[in-house]
Amino acid sequence: MDYQRTLREIADEVRPLVGRGRIADYIPPLADVPRGRFGMVVRTIGSEVFSVGDAEERFSIQSIAKVFSLTLAMRLEGDTVWERVGREPSGTAFNSLVQLEVEHGIPRNPFINAGALVVLDMVLSHQAQGQDLVLDFVRRASANPSVGYDTSVAEAERATGHRNRALAHFLKSFGNLRNDPDRVLDAYFLLCSLSMSCAELAAAFQYLATSGLSAGGEQVATARQVKRVNSVMLTCGVYDEAGDYAYRVGLPAKSGVGGGVVAVMPGRFVAAVWSPCLSEKGNSLAGTMALELLTTKTALSIF
Ligand code: GLU
Repeated sequence: MDYQRTLREIADEVRPLVGRGRIADYIPPLADVPRGRFGMVVRTIGSEVFSVGDAEERFSIQSIAKVFSLTLAMRLEGDTVWERVGREPSGTAFNSLVQLEVEHGIPRNPFINAGALVVLDMVLSHQAQGQDLVLDFVRRASANPSVGYDTSVAEAERATGHRNRALAHFLKSFGNLRNDPDRVLDAYFLLCSLSMSCAELAAAFQYLATSGLSAGGEQVATARQVKRVNSVMLTCGVYDEAGDYAYRVGLPAKSGVGGGVVAVMPGRFVAAVWSPCLSEKGNSLAGTMALELLTTKTALSIF
């Protein structure tokens, strides 16, 4: 498989889409990200890395980080995670309040904002003062101690994230947060501000292609947990576009409003792509096309 040639072809073919769509400027620092960026990495389970474009430039991974917090919560709490959060596609916006009211404070899945807040609340209940279990997990999964938060992004979301505040307090009113909502929100804004490149993300997600073995050779999740995280990514990982993704790309994937998307081909590779301009549904326009081209050109998908 000539992944390098395939990536070069993809970069050429998606070029007309790069810069089209809208930036997630509701998070003020993201408004300054240059619209023309495009980077992509394919990392095989043998740790061979192929890349094109801005693959080494760090960006705000936003909701992609919810995959790490979910894996961690499953490690810490096992199947009881699913008593407080569902695993069905939401069919509503990732930051919707309406569904939460109707469903009595049990978020539809761990990747919408309400679900991620509940998952982080679980993690925080295991976290001692001075510890950061999420950051530790991300660094271990990626075998990269330099990964960290962009605190200017976290601060900006803290100042403007009124809807997330509403969600957290709403969850508390239903009894589905154990910790103080402000503590959970602080952890949430930090989680979303993780700053990583495509190359770093592809390494960090390697455990999802290898039944739990990290880029550094450490078992960071069980095969059972990996199967479950990948299946939730397939059904809920790309906002209200999961059906279209399964149809066009055919891989479990998680996106973020920073324009990143990571897709997993279990037993073969992880692909990470970044281009900041988004579709109406909030997924990277060029990134989605790039992943569709990858599975078309390689004839590799889970189907
Ligand atoms: N921090 C963003 C928010 O809460 C995350 C959105 C996303 O990437 O889906 O609105």
